[in-house]
Amino acid sequence: MPAPPLADLARHVSALHAHAAAGYDRARERVIWNKRLDKARAPDAVVECRSAEEVAAVVRFAAANGLKVSPRGTGHHYEAAALREGGLLLDLGGIDFIEIDEAAGTARVGAAVIGGPLSERLARQGLAFPVGHCVDVGLSGYVLAGGFGWNAGEWGAACTNVTAVEMVTAAGEIVVASESDRPDLFWAARGAGPGFFAAITAYHLRLHPLPPATFAWRASFAVKDVPAIADWLSTATEATHPTAEVGCFLLNHWDTHEPAAVIRVSCCAESEEEARERISPFFALPTTALSLDEAKSEPVAFTELFKMSPMPSGERVAADHAWSDATLGELLLAIHDLPSPSTHSTVDLVGFGGHSRVALPADAALSLGGGTGAGIYALWDDPADDEANRAWVRRMDEALAPLRSGRYVGEADLTAGPDRLAECFTPQALERLRKLRARHDPNGLFFAWP
Ligand SMILES: Cc1cc2nc3c(=O)[nH]c(=O)nc-3n(C[C@H](O)[C@H](O)[C@H](O)COP(=O)(O)OP(=O)(O)OC[C@H]3O[C@@H](n4cnc5c(N)ncnc54)[C@H](O)[C@@H]3O)c2cc1C
Repeated sequence: MPAPPLADLARHVSALHAHAAAGYDRARERVIWNKRLDKARAPDAVVECRSAEEVAAVVRFAAANGLKVSPRGTGHHYEAAALREGGLLLDLGGIDFIEIDEAAGTARVGAAVIGGPLSERLARQGLAFPVGHCVDVGLSGYVLAGGFGWNAGEWGAACTNVTAVEMVTAAGEIVVASESDRPDLFWAARGAGPGFFAAITAYHLRLHPLPPATFAWRASFAVKDVPAIADWLSTATEATHPTAEVGCFLLNHWDTHEPAAVIRVSCCAESEEEARERISPFFALPTTALSLDEAKSEPVAFTELFKMSPMPSGERVAADHAWSDATLGELLLAIHDLPSPSTHSTVDLVGFGGHSRVALPADAALSLGGGTGAGIYALWDDPADDEANRAWVRRMDEALAPLRSGRYVGEADLTAGPDRLAECFTPQALERLRKLRARHDPNGLFFAWP
């Protein structure tokens, strides 16, 4: 049994696992996706909530007892930002309802609804939302950080498609923030990332008609041939339709197991023919290097796009992120000759046709980015390899430094240096976020950025 006063709180929430009580270790491991960090810090309790009222009870209890609160959506943050030392880990994973208004083209979804199931439910009603690239990422922290997902070239960042955010403030009040009501909170909830100063319980989404057609193309090249394909890649990207996503992935090829640069282009359109046409500049392969396998082009259902972006769970992970205005070819050249110690690791360079940018909301904390994103992801199994893999992430990040224009708060390692946070926002946006935090959470009830 949890010791008082946590025992008092346990009566008002769905479940409570106090530190040192039976079940605590399992509860803590369950809530964190990165196996390198799932025991890294020890909250006083993991508290499971299934409603805004339960969340409000936790916030009021924390305030009364001098405890800090750390909300957790689906625990996918690469540095496990939801897992803090001490305080209450507020597990919102059970708040995953989906209410769709088909006629209005809107949905109200629980904060922790997961991208894959949401996309499936919407598709059955002919609707869609720019969910994250991997099937198991929850909207919770994804939208809060901004959210760069499928068809972002057409629909913009995920938070651009949010019309209201339900949350519990540090005062324990349940509010719905929108452009017209509590606009400051609405502004901050679209981009603050792991430093937000309230607990979000639901998002109101503006949906899109399910794209009638999606087409994808892929080819792979040996890493040694990167210098021979870099110009072709940049030229083909420039000539491609601005809504097409152009990904270049440095990884070990699944068949040949050799280090490869895999180029993947996808686009949604009104018809298969139109989607094909939009990405057709890639169909003329470079004359300077041979593809490791036959170039593949095929129609894909929108809900099947996740299959092109697998990321295994259950591994130790270290990651970092950079935005860049350089071309994909320039980025590839800067990093292709830094092999990872682990064959599971990848670097994902994701840009858009015509070298275009993802639309950001007109006025929101999400104030930087939208060009080409470089995600560095080290994945491995053995704790003995931690240092070597983390060092590889740092080396990659250093190699990208001359081309970097900022970082994405949802994926950057904010613990890696004192300037990290400032690299994720415009100076004005960061200053406003800090002022809003001081006003709405004057006692620092919610943990700030890691
Ligand atoms: C496999 C994988 C694929 C990914 N793909 C993409 C992608 O395609 N595009 C993209 O933009 N990002 C992507 N990400 C990054 C992802 O958006 C972030 O990791 C995000 O934080 C995940 O949301 P979460 O709910 O799991 O966050 P958590 O890990 O639960 O929390 C992260 C931080 O946000 C805070 N937070 C979370 N929910 C709330 C809430 N409801 N209220 C207040 N604060 C909250 C937490 O306190 C914590 O500080 C990916 C990550 C992984 C691991």
